[in-house]
Parts: sequence; C-alpha cells; structure tokens
Amino acid sequence: MQTAIVTGGNRGIGLEICRQLAAQGVRVLLTARDAGKAEAAANGLPGEVIAHPLDVTDGASVDALKAFVVKQYGVAEILINNAAILLDDGVDVLSVDVETMREVVETNVYGPLRICEAFIPLMKERGYGRVVNVSSEAGSLTNMTNYAPAYSMSKAALNALTRMIADSLRGYKNIKVNAACPGWVRTEMGGSNAPRSVEQGAASILQLATLPENGVSGGFFRDGKALAW
Ligand code: NAP
Repeated sequence: MQTAIVTGGNRGIGLEICRQLAAQGVRVLLTARDAGKAEAAANGLPGEVIAHPLDVTDGASVDALKAFVVKQYGVAEILINNAAILLDDGVDVLSVDVETMREVVETNVYGPLRICEAFIPLMKERGYGRVVNVSSEAGSLTNMTNYAPAYSMSKAALNALTRMIADSLRGYKNIKVNAACPGWVRTEMGGSNAPRSVEQGAASILQLATLPENGVSGGFFRDGKALAW
C-alpha cells in the first residue's frame, strides 16, 4: 500500500485530493496546521486516512511529521504540496506590502521546499516517488499579469523550484516532480463564482500523483495539458 502526504488537507482542493487518493486504495496522511481540523476532516472520509498536524511554515512541525512517517511507514511515496495562502487579491504590485510578500512566500514557496527537503531523500532511498506542487497559472511568467502580486510571484517561484528539484533528481527515473494548476475552483480561496468543482480541480493533481514509470517529470500541467512556464 502506498502512502501519500497531502498538505492543507482539511478543506478545499486538498480535502478532495485526500478523498480521491483514499478511494484509490492509497493510505493518506491528511495534514493540516490545526490538529482538530485534520481529525475532523479525516474522520469524514472513507478509506485509510490518518490525520496529522503540519504547519508548512514550521520546521519543527515538518520534522515531527517526518519522524512519524519514518517510524510508521518508512517512506511516503506520494507528496502533494497543496497548502497555500492568497492575501493580496486586488492589490497592485506597486503598493504591495513587502511583509505580505514575505508571509506568502514563506507558506507557498519555503513550505514546499522544506517538505521536499524532508521527504524526497526517503524517496531517493526507495527509488520511487511522485511529487506534485500545486501551483497556478497565475505563476506563469509567459502569462504574468498584475493579479495578486505576492501570490503570483510565489507560484512562479514554486514553478522554478519544481524545475530545479526535477533536475536534481534526473538520475532517479522513477521519481517524478511536477507542478499542476487546478484551474479556477470553488473553494474559500477561489470563491463561489469559480467555474470548477473541487473534483475537477483535483483531477490534474491526481493524474500527476499516479503517473506511470515512463511519466513526465519537471512539467507544469492543467487537465493533462502542458502550460507555459
Ligand atoms: P483553500 O480552500 O484556501 O485551502 C488552503 C489550505 O491550505 C487550507 O487547508 C489551509 O489551512 C492550508 N494552509 C494555509 N497555510 C498553511 C500552513 N502554513 N500550513 C499548512 N496548511 C496551510 O485553497 P484551495 O482553493 O483549496 O487551494 C489549494 C491549492 O490550489 C493552493 O495551492 C492554491 O494556490 C491552488 N489553486 C487554487 C485555485 C482556486 O481557484 N481555488 C486556483 C489555482 C491554484 P487552514 O484551514 O488552516 O487555513
């Protein structure tokens, strides 16, 4: 049985990823920064879903999750870096507060970096891994606009991180690291006017989480189609 770590699994797209991975027979570590919310979300899902606290901005919290994974399962074959914050919708880049930038990058970029640094070495020992960084087309430099500057910059940096890690792992043919855009999805972040359901948003991520051995690495996709970086 494979084990998956999902960050920000208590609601939105992360919760749906947990639901679908568990339905596919994967053991899911549903993580959330609030332990009570992780428990409540995990209890609502069928399958083997284990709640565990994880604040992606806190190195000690990442270390505690790693110790748990190593002791219980040895490795997590699937890692979904889903947790993120959007604090500057509607803010112009020339008036964005640098502290906001820092806070968003701390969660959306350094969070996934910390987690990759903690868990990919275990994948290297096993010679298998699927890492999906949940990004956004807002992070595409080709299509970059003035929308939510801190958020967009953080997703561009997450895309860069995806490329770098994939390159670092080029000698490990069965470890795949990709970025996914879920599209505009009805969640707390996406709002109620978004056209996509969480099921539709999660589909791009699930596909990359379950890639076959000859699957791609180092790409940026939505609905299975490559997006411009
Ligand atoms: P959401 O409903 O706002 O959920 C975000 C999740 O991240 C929550 O579980 C939240 O936990 C968690 N989180 C935030 N900071 C955290 C931290 N420091 N440590 C651990 N967890 C933390 O967002 P969503 O719409 O499901 O978005 C999921 C992913 O899709 C994000 O990466 C987002 O950027 C991306 N995305 C979404 C859309 C969209 O339209 N919705 C579009 C493009 C990309 P709390 O409940 O504790 O706050």
